[in-house]
Amino acid sequence: MSTIFSRIAAREIPAVIVAEDDAAVAFMDIAPASRGHVLVIAREAYPDIFSIPPATWLRVMALAQRVAQAIGRSLAPDGINIVQNNGAAAGQTVFHLHVHLIPRWSGDGALALWHPGATAPEQLDGVARQIRAALGDD
Ligand code: AMP
Repeated sequence: MSTIFSRIAAREIPAVIVAEDDAAVAFMDIAPASRGHVLVIAREAYPDIFSIPPATWLRVMALAQRVAQAIGRSLAPDGINIVQNNGAAAGQTVFHLHVHLIPRWSGDGALALWHPGATAPEQLDGVARQIRAALGDD
C-alpha cells in the first residue's frame, strides 16, 4: 500500500523531516495545530492501530518519545498532547498510521479534546466485561 506519507518517507514528495530511523519518520505537520506540531509515522503503511504489528508500534512510539523530549527541550512548551486518530469517525484523514505531537502553551486553545460524560458503575462494568472477553480472544 502506498500513501502520501509513504511517499514522504521515501522522499518522493517533500516534507520537513526532523528525525528518522529504519522503522519510523518524524516530520512537521503541514497544517500545524500549534508551533512545533510533528507527525511520527511508521515507514510501512499500516492504516491504523488495529493493523500495525506491536513491534512496529513500539518503534513508532519510541521515536515519538524522543521527538517529544526534543520539543520539550527546544520549544519549552507548557505541555504536549499526543494524539493518534484511527478511522474517519475518530478524525483520521490520512490512512497511514501516524502519531501527532502537539506542543501546548497555557491558554492557547489549540485543541478541543473531549467533554467529560456521565455514566453509572454498572455501565462501566458491562463495557469492561466486553473488552475483557475480547482480550481473552488474543
Ligand atoms: P489525521 O486527521 O489524524 O489523519 O491527520 C492527518 C494530518 O496530516 C493532518 O494534521 C494534516 O495537516 C497532515 N498532513 C496531510 N498531508 C501532509 C503533508 N503532505 N505533509 C505534512 N503533513 C500533512
